[in-house]
Formats: sequence, C-alpha cells, structure tokens
Amino acid sequence: MTTPQGLTKQILLAMVLAIITGAIAQACTGYVAWFDTLLTDYLVGGVFFVIGKIFVATLKLLVVPLVLVSLVCGAANLGSGSQLGRLGGKTILLYLFTTAVAISLAMGFALLFEPGVGADLTSKAQFKVNEGASFAQVLINIFPSNPISAMAEGKMLQIIVFALLLGVAINHSGERGSRIKQTFEDWNEVILNLVTMLMKVAPIGVFALLFTLFADKGLAAIQELAVYFAVVVAVLLVHATLVYGSLITLLARLNPKTFYAKMRNVQLFAFSTASSNATLPITMRTVEKRLGVDNSVASFSVPLGATLNMDGTAIMQGVATVFIAQAYGIVLAPADFLTVIATATLASIGTAGVPGVGLVMLSLVLTQVGLPVEGIALIIGVDRLLDMLRTAVNVTGDAAVSCIVANSEGKLDKTCFDDIQAGQLETEGK
Ligand code: ASP
Repeated sequence: MTTPQGLTKQILLAMVLAIITGAIAQACTGYVAWFDTLLTDYLVGGVFFVIGKIFVATLKLLVVPLVLVSLVCGAANLGSGSQLGRLGGKTILLYLFTTAVAISLAMGFALLFEPGVGADLTSKAQFKVNEGASFAQVLINIFPSNPISAMAEGKMLQIIVFALLLGVAINHSGERGSRIKQTFEDWNEVILNLVTMLMKVAPIGVFALLFTLFADKGLAAIQELAVYFAVVVAVLLVHATLVYGSLITLLARLNPKTFYAKMRNVQLFAFSTASSNATLPITMRTVEKRLGVDNSVASFSVPLGATLNMDGTAIMQGVATVFIAQAYGIVLAPADFLTVIATATLASIGTAGVPGVGLVMLSLVLTQVGLPVEGIALIIGVDRLLDMLRTAVNVTGDAAVSCIVANSEGKLDKTCFDDIQAGQLETEGK
C-alpha cells in the first residue's frame, strides 16, 4: 500500500527517472533509424504524449468546479462585506509586494552576474509579438456577462467574481440560503475527494510529461545559456526560501520548515505541469487540509494567486530584461529599472497560469523600456525548463500569502499547521 511519504517519493523517483532516461534517449538519437522512430513516433509522440495530456486534462477538469464551489462556500461563510474587502485588500497587497521584491532581486542578481554580456546574437529563433488588450478592457473583462460561458472558457477572474457574488447572496438568503450553502459544502468535499483520487496516479503522469519533454529537447540548450539559467535558478531559490521563509516567520510567526515540508507535493505537481492552473486543485487541498487555512480564505486567495501572483515568472522577466539589454549592449537608466519593476509586476499579473505565457508577457516589459522584443528568441531555448521551476515558485507564493493572510484574520488552524501529519491521508492520495 502507498504510504503518504511513499507517494511523494514515488513522484520524485518518477521525475528523476524520466529526466535521466529522457535525456539519455535524446542523446542516443540520430544513430539508428528504428530507434529514432520508436522514440519519436511511439514514445514521445505516442504513448507518453497521450498519458501526459490525459494527466494534465484531468487535473484541469477539476479547476473550474473546485474554484466555483469552494469560493461560493468561502464567501457564504464570510460574515460581512467589510471582512471580504479587508481579506481581498490584504491578499492583493501581499501578492503585489512579493512580486515587486521578486523582480527587484532578479534585476539585482542579473546586474551582478551579467549573464547577457557576450551572448550570441545569431539565434535563428523568431519571436512574434501579440497585441495586448487595453487596460480598460482588462478591467471590463473581469466581470462576466454570462457565468456559464466564463466557466466554459475557464476565465478565472470572472468565475471568482461570480462565485463571490453568489456566496454573498447566499449569505443574505436566510434559511433558503443555508440549504444551498449546505449543498455547496457537500459538493466541495466530493470534489476534494476527486483531487485525492487523481493524486494516486500522479507518478505515472509525471513520468510521461517529463520523459516527453527531455527526450524531445534534451539538456543541450542549458549549456549555451548556462549563466542566464544559473542566475534565474539562483534568484528563484533565494526567493522561494529566504523571502517566503522570512515573511512566514516574521508576519505569521509560523515555522517555515513545516511549511516547506508540506508544500513538497504541490511543488512537484507545479514543476511537472508547468501550470499554476493545473496545480490549483492540489494547492487548494494542501493549503486547506495540511496548512490549516480556513476555506473562507483559501477559496479566495489560492485561485486569485494562481491567476495573478507569479513571482517566479516576474523573476524570469527581471533577469531576462537585464540579459537582453546586456546582450544588445544597451545600458538601462535608473528610471528604466523602476519601469521594469512596475511593468513586470503588472505583466506577471496578466500572465495566465499556463505553460509559457510568462515569456509572451515579457514582450510587454521589453517594449516599455525600449528593448528589442526579438531578444526573447535568445532565451527561448531554456524557457520550458525555467517555466517548470518558476511555476513551483509561483504556487509556493500563493500558499505562503494564504497562510499569512489567514493568520492575520484568525483563520489559520495552528494545530493543523504544526502537525506534520495533518491532512496527509487526504492530501497525499491514500
Ligand atoms: N507557467 C507559469 C505558471 O503557470 C506561467 C509562466 O511563467 O509562463 O505559473
């Protein structure tokens, strides 16, 4: 039988095995024709491709029902509108603050280690810029005109607005409201159990995803961009450990070690899927059942974080901006750095929690400071790998802020947080 720790170990093992076998398989291509066909057509483009896609699809299928049901319960349980406002204000402020710190750190490190000096500008890759929506349109788009279509299209902010309104209305509807609330609470438990069921097959899904990736691309790209890669990884590590660690300790007086131990599975899911959105069901379950954050906070802060809070992405954007400036020999003025901090914070808010979008949003930052958008082509080669790492940081930030806000609102169960076993059975799929 799978023990809880066993599941984490199995996911880790699947990850390591997939990276090693995938990279070896990639290195062996180009010699024997039948091997190339087997690898490309039957494994990378066949069995593992299908398993990986199904795994991510089943994770994603939980996102909309989970966010809707959970947030309706959360909003229905919040006493008053002012409580909701305070909660929202604190959460958004902390998300913005951690992102601004992340990007400042990123640019500091990049200035120190100069990853772009002497970079090869002969990259053949092309990068096309997409037109972004205007700020007014972005605001208007938060409000759904049709909640069903918002759900069908997975528009997270619109779903959040609808669920909040519905929850508040339920709260004001007396006995009828409590009946509906009960139904939503029952649904919430059922969906969380579905998350548990899915986690059991995670090792297979993770293997398939990572094998496909490494057998296809290998690790060669890292060598060419070693300094850039190393600087991004270093800042991601510093931010994930020191920044979140100190915030959790100073603002919430919680033990960061316990926090990180409980976040391991969430980080592994985020790493494998490179998507905060697909990881959302696991993040939500962990934050509520293992870290002890009350549903009324978690149901709001986690989906909002998965949509808006992208510290890892901001870090990549910070280092990438300095890298591209250095590669093209352009000196950024002090005011440019402030512009980068502001736009990268906004860009990471606008980044959807799906693979690769952070790179697309980087074009916004580059344009603001007059850097060539084509520079993105220089770093595209290692972006998928960095995407996996930064997504793990993105979800860690969502959970850290959720704990801090819950604690400040008296909505954190400290006994649950401190108990290393808490929620383990449900959370880890037994
Ligand atoms: N993949 C990231 C996420 O889902 C977003 C990005 O940086 O591209 O969190």
